Formats: sequence, structure tokens, C-alpha cells
Amino acid sequence: MAISISTTGLEHTSFLVVGSGIAGLYTALKLSEFAEVTLITKETLEESNTAYAQGGIAAAISPSDSPELHYEDTIRVGAGICLPAAVKILVNEGPERVRELISLGVPFDCQAGEPALTREAAHSRSRILHADGDATGREISRALTHDVINNPRIKIKENIFVAALLTGPEGCYGILALEETGETKCFLSGATILATGGCGQIFSDTTNPKVATGDGMAVAFRAGAALSDMEFMQFHPTALYLPTAPRFLISEAVRGEGGLLRNKQGVRFMPSYHEQAELAPRDIVARSIFCEMKKTGDDHVYLDLSSLAPDRIKSRFPNIYETCLEYGVDITKEMIPVAPAAHYMMGGIATDLWGRTALPHLFACGEVANSGVHGANRLASNSLLDGLVLGHRIFEYFKTHKLSFSELPQELKAEINGETDPATIKNDLNFLKMLVSKELGIIRNQEGLEFLLHQLSSSSSGENSSLKPQYLELQNMRLIARLMATAALERKESRGSHFRSDYPAPDPSWIKRIFQFPVRTEIHSADKVYNWPW
Ligand SMILES: Cc1cc2nc3c(=O)[nH]c(=O)nc-3n(C[C@H](O)[C@H](O)[C@H](O)COP(=O)(O)OP(=O)(O)OC[C@H]3O[C@@H](n4cnc5c(N)ncnc54)[C@H](O)[C@@H]3O)c2cc1C
Repeated sequence: MAISISTTGLEHTSFLVVGSGIAGLYTALKLSEFAEVTLITKETLEESNTAYAQGGIAAAISPSDSPELHYEDTIRVGAGICLPAAVKILVNEGPERVRELISLGVPFDCQAGEPALTREAAHSRSRILHADGDATGREISRALTHDVINNPRIKIKENIFVAALLTGPEGCYGILALEETGETKCFLSGATILATGGCGQIFSDTTNPKVATGDGMAVAFRAGAALSDMEFMQFHPTALYLPTAPRFLISEAVRGEGGLLRNKQGVRFMPSYHEQAELAPRDIVARSIFCEMKKTGDDHVYLDLSSLAPDRIKSRFPNIYETCLEYGVDITKEMIPVAPAAHYMMGGIATDLWGRTALPHLFACGEVANSGVHGANRLASNSLLDGLVLGHRIFEYFKTHKLSFSELPQELKAEINGETDPATIKNDLNFLKMLVSKELGIIRNQEGLEFLLHQLSSSSSGENSSLKPQYLELQNMRLIARLMATAALERKESRGSHFRSDYPAPDPSWIKRIFQFPVRTEIHSADKVYNWPW
């Protein structure tokens, strides 16, 4: 449903940044060097996927490492779908961005005065910086939030939900938002930067917090931007599996430090699935656990830390230790029950190497964006880095480009999809999550994907203007599920995190990326560099 908005009397800002994870906070700070920034976020500044990141941030800063090695690891894990130019930017510019975080006060753990580096799955070197053991995201978020709050050029708007983008003849002019009071409010801006994170919440089992409902992807798509690589959702192999606990992440770094996976019979099974055993790429470990659980008929496996001294466990993984203890598992003495859970969206709003989207004046960075850097599978700890690097590219872009429209039209359009019946919302949401988990989970096939698409088209509750965040979130999740299923159906092969039981092998003719626009789909070779022509 498109609504028209008069542009008289609306709030203006130079830059509008949506989202307060690493990408939004960092980009807002950088852009404030040029002009006033308004930063909008749907809960508090501190709530984001970023705040829960544990393992750390990858960067080739050690003398025994190099951007070339980081490049090779990222490309290998991305399974043919990474855009090489985007990966080069990530690994070459990453070390400088991480040094900037250090100078902004992020207290990375150190050894002999230098950042302590750990190794995670599929990295050929120890290159992961971490903070307070396993609370890297919280520490990054804390440092950036502090600087944002103290920056007089950044206006902070918490508890405001972005419901739609405002569009007109020259592209994106800003956003339509819902305030806590239920009032709608429009913000006009010279550039809108979406940093709204991922969409793990469309699955029943996810490591993502409840803000991760794919809103940014959905509003951008409705407004005319392209989404790409939507079939690639990464499942984290090891989320805590206890009936009473949330699906708390047990970081990859635990396996990096020597944690072993065992089935319920106590048998270590990863060596029979892959030569790198517990340190194989994420998709392989997740699928292996899934297959092992199918084989034994169990709903989880175990992570065994008995090779690590209790003191080492407590100092290296204080957050994991405390959280598991809270739920009755002492990980210095017992194995941790774990199972895979939806974790990271490789796909997202298609951007070029400057964070530009297909819609003029709309930019994106962080997990909501997809510059092609992660391909079919993200290398562990590359996503925090990606948020910084693409955010910085947006900043670089505005060093040489002016920020204005030739003129403001009298009316703008906002594409909204409201939901009707508040009574059915919880059931609809649970049904959606259950269906998506079953048909778009670790193993997919044509029949299931078609069934899901059919259900999504038939269960759509129509249009209404009940503008409430939870209704809009449900509609956003439906749209994202539909786009993911459509892309997964199109890709008739298995590659990276996308595995189809009816096409279990990779097909070299599919070294291609799927771009979905509202009115068409484009399929391009994986090395095509997008440079949006505007
Ligand atoms: C448990 C866990 C552990 C992880 N560990 C690591 C790790 O060790 N290393 C690593 O590199 N990556 C890790 N990741 C992934 C990484 O944390 C995320 O990819 C990254 O933090 C995304 O940052 P972001 O800024 O793009 O989005 P987020 O941090 O998710 O922030 C998105 C922001 O947008 C806001 N928002 C969303 N929708 C709206 C809306 N409609 N209106 C207004 N605001 C909105 C949200 O409230 C939030 O503030 C982990 C993820 C999880 C869940």
C-alpha cells in the first residue's frame, strides 16, 4: 500500500543513519565530521546483534599474517560467490579500521602489550581480536555508544521504528517512522544509511536478538532497491540447547581453543565428516551436526571442553561460563548441549563498493547490506569488520560527493505493508518461524520451498493501515522469507550455506549471484562489480 506524504513541515537532517549496531554507530560518528547526523534505532542504543558478538573481529595485523592470506581464507569459505574486489577492500582496509577502534577506546585483550589474537574455524592464521574474553561485541558497542552520546553533531532517537522509506523522483528522501506513542513521523535527509542488521528472527532457533527482523531489507526492497544472495543464511553450529534457555551462542573460538564435538554416546564425530574436523567451515560443521543428530535421532550434540584447564575456560570465556552456569551447566566439569541455529544473513541490500544501493541517496552497511564480501558463507569474525569497512567507504564517498537533491517535491511516497488482526499475530509469527525453519533450514528441497512459498502467499492477511511495529515486523519477515525461498528455489545446486537435498553437489554453472528487484530478478556472474548508475 503506497501512502503519500506532504513534504511541508517535516524534520530535516543532513545524514540519517538507521540502526545502532557497529555499522550504524561507527558510520554516524564518521559522517558527523561532515554535517549533522540523526541516528534512529528501534530500541535502545545498546540493543543490536553487535552487542552479543562474542568471538571477535578478524584483521591481518600480526607480522606472521597478511591481507593476502585473509583474502584467500575469505574467498575459499565464500565458495565461489564472493566478489573478489569487495574482499580485497575488506582485508586491505580492515587493519586500519581495527586500529581506529583501538584508538576509539575499545579495550581489546592484550598479550605482552599487543592485541591477543586467536584463531577461528577456516582461518589459516590467528587473527581474531577479542575483548573481555568473549564479550567483544558488548565492548565495541560500549565504546562507540559512548562517543555517539557525547557527539554534539549526532541527534539520537531511540525507540523509533522505521516503517518505510520516503521515495520520489530522485530516489530516497528519508524515512517514515513510528514513535513510541504510535504517532508517525517523517525525517527528510540528503542521504539515508540503513544499518539495521540481519533477519535471524524469521527462524524459530536463532542466536539473533529480537530486533533482527529484517526490517531494513524489507523497506529497501519495497522502495525499489535490489536484494542479493538471499538464499545464503549461515547457521551457527553451536548454540546452547536447553529447553529453558535462549539459543545462546557458544562461540567458534571455543572450538578454536580445543573444544570437541561429541554425540550423545560420547563419540567424537567431526573427523569422519571433514579433515579439518571441528575447525571446518561453519556450514560444514553445522550440516555435520545436523546429519549426526538425524543419524542418532537426537535433538542436540555436545561440546566437550575437558582438554582446557578450568582457569583457562573461565578467563577466556567468562561470558559463556557464567551464562551456562546460570542455566545449570558448569562447563569446567560438564559437556555443553548444543545444536545449530540461524545466525547470520550473507545476503541483503545489494550495494556497490561505496555502500550505494540501487536506489539513489540510499546507502547500506553492516549485516543488512551485501557488497558481495561474504559470498555463500561468511568467514567467522568477518562481519563486525565488514560493518566498519563499508561504513568507512560511505564516509569516503561523501568526501567527494555533494549531499543534496536538485529540488524537493511537494509529495513523497511511502510503501507500507500493515497487518490486520492483533489477535492472530502471535500465531502467525510462530507459524511463520516454524515453516521457515523446516523448509529454509540447513537442508532444503524443491517440494519444501514450493510449499513454503504457497503458504506465504495464501496466509498473507491483506492490507490495513494498522501501523504498529509488531505488525510491520511480521510483514517484513514474511517478505524476507518469500525472497529467501524464491532465491533458494532458483539456485538448483548446493553451495556454501545453501544445501539442497535434491541438488546435493555444487554446479559450476551456478557461480553466479541472484539479484532480486521488486519487478525483476537478475542473475550475474559472481565477479560482476556493481556500480549503480546514478
Ligand atoms: C550471538 C552472536 C554472536 C556473534 N559473534 C560475532 C563475532 O564474534 N564476530 C563477528 O564478526 N560477528 C559476530 N556476529 C555477527 C555480528 O554481530 C553482526 O553481523 C553485526 O554485529 C551486525 O552489525 P550491524 O551494525 O550491521 O547490525 P546490528 O548490530 O544487528 O544492529 C542493527 C540495529 O538496527 C536497529 N533496527 C533494526 N530494525 C530497525 C527499524 N525498523 N527501525 C529502527 N532501527 C532498527 C536495531 O535495533 C539495531 O540497533 C555475531 C552475531 C550474534 C547474534
